[in-house]
Amino acid sequence: MYVEKFEGLNKSDIGIAGGKGANLGELTQAGIPVPPGFVVTAQSYEKFMNEAGINDKVMSILEELDVNDSSALNKAADKIKKIIIDSPIPEDLTITIREFYNELCQRVGEDDADVAIRSSATAEDLPEASFAGQQDTFLHVSGDEDVIRYIKECWASLFEGRAIFYREENNFEHSKVLIAVVVQKMANADKAGVMFTVNPSTGEEIALIEGSWGLGESVVSGDVTPDNYQVDKKDNKIINVTISDKKVMYTNDEKGTSIKVDVPEDMRNQRVLSDEELVELTEMGKRVQAHYGEPMDTEWAFENNHLFLLQARPITTLGDGPNNDDDAASDLGDVLVRGLGASPGMATGNVKIILDIDELNKIQDGDIMVTTMTTPDMVPAMKRASGIVTDEGGVTCHASIISRELGIPCVVGTGDATTTLKENTGVTLDGKKGLVFEGISQTKEEAVNVVAGNVEAAPIITVTEVKANVSMPEAAEKAAATGADGVGLLRTEHLMLTSGIHPGKFIADGREDELIDTIADNVQIVADAFYPKPVWYRTLDAPTDEFITLEGGENEPREHNPMLGWRGIRRELDQPEILKCEFKAIKKLHEKGYTNIGIMIPLSQSPEELKKAKALCSEVGFEPHKDVDFGMMVEIPAAAIMIDEYIKVGIDFVSLGTNDLTQYTLAVDRNNEFVAKHYTEEHPAVMKLIERTIKKCAEAGVTCSICGQAGSVPHIVEKLVGYGITSVSSNADAIADVRKTVARAEQKIILDAARKRLE
Ligand code: PEP
Ligand code: MG
Repeated sequence: MYVEKFEGLNKSDIGIAGGKGANLGELTQAGIPVPPGFVVTAQSYEKFMNEAGINDKVMSILEELDVNDSSALNKAADKIKKIIIDSPIPEDLTITIREFYNELCQRVGEDDADVAIRSSATAEDLPEASFAGQQDTFLHVSGDEDVIRYIKECWASLFEGRAIFYREENNFEHSKVLIAVVVQKMANADKAGVMFTVNPSTGEEIALIEGSWGLGESVVSGDVTPDNYQVDKKDNKIINVTISDKKVMYTNDEKGTSIKVDVPEDMRNQRVLSDEELVELTEMGKRVQAHYGEPMDTEWAFENNHLFLLQARPITTLGDGPNNDDDAASDLGDVLVRGLGASPGMATGNVKIILDIDELNKIQDGDIMVTTMTTPDMVPAMKRASGIVTDEGGVTCHASIISRELGIPCVVGTGDATTTLKENTGVTLDGKKGLVFEGISQTKEEAVNVVAGNVEAAPIITVTEVKANVSMPEAAEKAAATGADGVGLLRTEHLMLTSGIHPGKFIADGREDELIDTIADNVQIVADAFYPKPVWYRTLDAPTDEFITLEGGENEPREHNPMLGWRGIRRELDQPEILKCEFKAIKKLHEKGYTNIGIMIPLSQSPEELKKAKALCSEVGFEPHKDVDFGMMVEIPAAAIMIDEYIKVGIDFVSLGTNDLTQYTLAVDRNNEFVAKHYTEEHPAVMKLIERTIKKCAEAGVTCSICGQAGSVPHIVEKLVGYGITSVSSNADAIADVRKTVARAEQKIILDAARKRLE
């Protein structure tokens, strides 16, 4: 059986339809409202792999792979996915899929019906082995060509790096894990979420419901902290309603594509589910549990007041959490943060704040992992932790599911644990009540010492963003640990220098792909460290004298004054092949999900250059402003004077490169020690150009930052805040001071304004 409607499947069909497909079949047969659909079975996938003749090729790549080498893992994953995407689906299978899709279109009365395409791995959703977040889902697919295309994408997603890693870790044989694909009429939910038919932490007979606005993606992915409701199943009495601040939602744009948008202000703190809807859901939960004969974890949606279930699976983790050790509470300190109890039990240990994936090796056995939200790549480190605390998410987010599965106490949705809790201090976590206490509970854990005397000031919040300059990927982790709001300047030169090869040589040797990978791999380290905060990648600003020592650098021209010579965007426009490789590298990273990276061009002297650079970016299929934020450095007086003309050409942001702006305004070579005493950013002419640029940008609504050294000098920063700069990017070691200065400057502005009003 290659394709089957939900009506023809039941829960025993996991081997054919995967966990998701089999359960949708079971629900349909039980008369529970489920959007209609069909399943392209695991046997279709097998047939495709065999008839395309790619099985052996794929397995041999996996055999040679060391999954702990993450760069090799990602390369193998990319290679396998490409093999799958590039292979044709057998003709007879294509015809069958088309027939089922057309039949679905007729059933729902739509040409080219809008469907969701979901992977349903045959080892997924099985008790003890929830593969949360492992395979892909594509929403709003329509037309048979696209349906077929995304089915193939789902097949390929079986070989995402993290899925390969997970199978190895759990000893699933790659060749035995097959994948089915669910094709289901899209539910355009007004509100959606999840429901556990018992409390998943305690097994108590209540319906635990989480809901948020729009499609259910926001709840499942942990992008929002949803409303949380508890309903007593005996009498449908609502026993708890916790309304959260729901900041984002997924909705459809005009083309029917689902997009993440801000929740309208008046709905953010509005309750999502009415009493009647809660009762309707609870009744549905009872039916589902009665039908399956066990507690269930479900996904639901309301569309135009109609309730649907989109998913049901047994709760995988009941009863295997650590003890609910309430008597440990007797010696607990103050509550430091509160959230939702996502995985029961008490845990003690030292806080390790994980703001990016590269910091994971900070986690030693017994530590408390504190992070914004966990991702599948964090699983190996989560296993070492004794407890997990997250800023975001609800009881069904990735952190919750995995920590329950691992039996690790977990508190999610605290809002601010990563900023409130202090690195290396001892805490005790109650994963049932959702509380984190100060200190190590002595009754719980005697061996770990409480870190004494750790009274730190409250975190400083500034409206003006304080970012970091990063030049070497190795420094990214340290820079991110300062809590910087992103990277305001990622210098490319050092990335190139570490390769030891002149970029021009890569091009001359026809090794463009290697150049792209070198850039992408290095930038990825920085983008990871700061994800999802913005990282501005500056295209190559290569003075000839600095690149001369590289392999292939012998052809660099000998210039009288390289600072005034062939560097920055003027050089790149003469060597467009290098620039194009840079754009391709950033494009590649965006495609891998690092959409936090923006591009900026250095050392521009005329708007014409900006136009040309943007055209080259478009030429590689990466549309400035649409696909990627595109900005520029203001480093030459000409650019500061002509900033309006640049704004007309179109820029998303500007960054003041005061190192160069100073040398070009004052005719003082920044590299020349003989004139060093004449070099000062505070020269009135330089400050005038800075002020002008900031104000013109503010008028035009263009973000304006600084990344020259002046941005690391507190008393200059104070002035820039007064001019209205939107962000300041400093050296990592200056961030703490700059942040304090910015905060003080902002408060002064508020105070001055208030005083003026009183006068
Ligand atoms: C600047 O010129 O201020 C700047 C940040 O760029 P670089 O120091 O790399 O020239
Ligand atoms: Mg510069």
